[in-house]
Amino acid sequence: MNPYAITADPGASRQEKPADGTADLHLHTLFSDGTFTPEELAQRGAQLGFAAMALTDHDTVEGCERMSRACQSLGIECITGTELTAEFDGHEVHLLGYFLDAHQPKLLTEIKKFQTVRQERIREMVSRLNGLGIPLRAETVFELANCHSPGRPHVARALEQEGLCVSMDQAFERYLKKGRPAWVPKYKISALDAIALIHQANGLAVMAHPGLNHCDQAIPHLASDGLDGLECFHSRHNAAQSEHYLAMARRLNLAVTGGSDCHGFSKGKPLIGGVRLSAVYLQKLKEARRS
Ligand code: AMP
Ligand code: ZN
Ligand code: FE
Ligand code: FE
Repeated sequence: MNPYAITADPGASRQEKPADGTADLHLHTLFSDGTFTPEELAQRGAQLGFAAMALTDHDTVEGCERMSRACQSLGIECITGTELTAEFDGHEVHLLGYFLDAHQPKLLTEIKKFQTVRQERIREMVSRLNGLGIPLRAETVFELANCHSPGRPHVARALEQEGLCVSMDQAFERYLKKGRPAWVPKYKISALDAIALIHQANGLAVMAHPGLNHCDQAIPHLASDGLDGLECFHSRHNAAQSEHYLAMARRLNLAVTGGSDCHGFSKGKPLIGGVRLSAVYLQKLKEARRS
């Protein structure tokens, strides 16, 4: 049992309450760096008893229509989302957009730019790997990724597939982690611009996994500039972090969200099901949308 899941219910004591939450609002498919199709993800959500799921692929909303159709056929509510990589004060932060208008022209124009940056970055990472004597081809990565939003996990998988690393973990450790020789910094939109972009596409802006970004000082600033919510529950937040961000969300009047950040199988098991957000929080998120 994942202990973080249990905290995802407002007012519930962690020890007493079972994980009865009904939503997972942070999910990836093969439209970015996940490995499930939208249909496979929806099917898994149904098996796990989820009532609502949000697709939040990196820098794209392309999978959302298929996800919506698959969810609809299974009686699951689907929220159209994305995850944007942004920057505040030199720190990388990830912003989730929810309830987006997936056809909004400015949103589509901007995410197209982010995708171009991602594609160029893959070429640069491969070129650095080549400089280290690693014979990987960019085309191999693009063929494997087969999407408009390729990222480091695709490079890691390609290295593994080509027998150039024994595992994705090794690929990140040796080459792709920040500061490693094939790591390439990515151009990032400012967090304020990302929030504005999400808003003008009729969405709500939520800071993803704040516990991973070590940028708490950004949160009050962003809250006063339109941030709508904080992802308090995440697979990589421990219970203390969830409590910390719940208190911060309460203090700053931010909506509370949560999700597994499932990218497919991770060490033999998908993360989906490990974080279950209570319907009460989802309801509050929807109220934030109306106000
Ligand atoms: P990118 O957007 O290209 O910088 O890639 C970020 C993605 O890489 C994250 O969403 C994670 O899915 C994955 N990732 C980041 N660090 C690691 C790591 N150390 N091991 C495996 N996957 C990682
Ligand atoms: Zn990812
Ligand atoms: Fe993220
Ligand atoms: Fe994510």
